[in-house]
Amino acid sequence: MNTSITKPPVQENINLSPYNTLRVEAKADQFITISEPSQLLAIYNKDFFKKYSPVILGGGSNVLIKSDLKQPVLKISIPGIEIIHERDKEILIKSGAGVTWHDFVSFCVEKGFGGIENLALIPGTVGAAPIQNIGAYGVELKDTFHSLKAFLPETGEERVFSINECDFGYRDSIFKKSLKGKVIITEVTLRLQKPPHTIEDSYYALQEYFQSNGIKSPTIKDVFNAVVEIRESKLPNPELIGNAGSFFKNPIVEVSVYQKLKQQYPSIPSFEAGAGKIKIPAGWLIEQAGWKGKKVGNVGTYKNQALVLVNHGGATGEEIYEHAMKIRESVKEKFGVELDPEVNVIS
Ligand SMILES: Cc1cc2nc3c(=O)[nH]c(=O)nc-3n(C[C@H](O)[C@H](O)[C@H](O)COP(=O)(O)OP(=O)(O)OC[C@H]3O[C@@H](n4cnc5c(N)ncnc54)[C@H](O)[C@@H]3O)c2cc1C
Repeated sequence: MNTSITKPPVQENINLSPYNTLRVEAKADQFITISEPSQLLAIYNKDFFKKYSPVILGGGSNVLIKSDLKQPVLKISIPGIEIIHERDKEILIKSGAGVTWHDFVSFCVEKGFGGIENLALIPGTVGAAPIQNIGAYGVELKDTFHSLKAFLPETGEERVFSINECDFGYRDSIFKKSLKGKVIITEVTLRLQKPPHTIEDSYYALQEYFQSNGIKSPTIKDVFNAVVEIRESKLPNPELIGNAGSFFKNPIVEVSVYQKLKQQYPSIPSFEAGAGKIKIPAGWLIEQAGWKGKKVGNVGTYKNQALVLVNHGGATGEEIYEHAMKIRESVKEKFGVELDPEVNVIS
């Protein structure tokens, strides 16, 4: 770690609405921007982490801020992309945690480095990507993940985590479980492919796109363009309407539970999810429970995708949370299936 100690800038009484994509108007007593790892050491030396449990914030695209925050907010804005080494077939590339994920993907695709093109246009920062092992269109971060560097607020040390130490799962990692709130990711390194690339185009939406655009052998740039176009047509843009993407995870149930549901609801969609397990799309369950496009006060579900909760303007964090819990209860009542939030609830 760079040992030159620089204090990070602290702002007071900050409206967090520009810093969370649900556009909740909560306030933070203290808002501290971290633009280099040594600033974490600087505040550690002032006993900061012993006194407070700060909220770590990246792009705010996977959080629901329920109320005003008395604890300080650490906004991770560490920049920089660097190629660590290049071999014939692969490349190791690292990025500062504050780099915007989509900018990083665009950079890699432009340079001809393959592996994350399917993850284009996922909002947020590189540093948050390992937290829930972001995934889309048949690819997850773990497929190209090499390692990450993190600051440990309990000891003030820096630690490198290899892929085996991250315990990645479906929208999950050790950083959402036993190490929740115990690491601040400062840098992420990926192992990407140089040409010839392996193209992941098994998703129906991608195949349909390539067919209708006459693309027979898609390149990583074609996949990138396809994903951007499909996502723009399907998901609400947080710049236009407040949302945090999928609010709940797709529930994974025992085959026996699924079979009972299938008898009652023959059209229930499903995906294999490992031995004896079936994943059911949460959006379908929520839609069948009557919530798709429904607006209650300032909150609702998106008209094209019931899994996305939207802030129609002026919704408080509490209001969004209560709405989410009502959806959860009604899905439990109708199907007996428990929905777990994918979004991180902060209060
Ligand atoms: C329209 C839309 C579409 C989306 N689509 C997808 C999708 O297809 N697939 C997918 O997986 N996700 C998707 N998401 C969710 C979201 O984009 C990802 O989870 C993203 O990785 C969150 O990044 P962020 O920087 O905004 O994290 P934040 O929302 O700021 O934080 C998320 C969590 O990570 C923690 N955190 C953030 N940065 C750090 C850090 N440096 N160190 C330690 N902890 C940290 C926070 O404390 C919080 O618990 C979508 C969201 C939106 C709004």
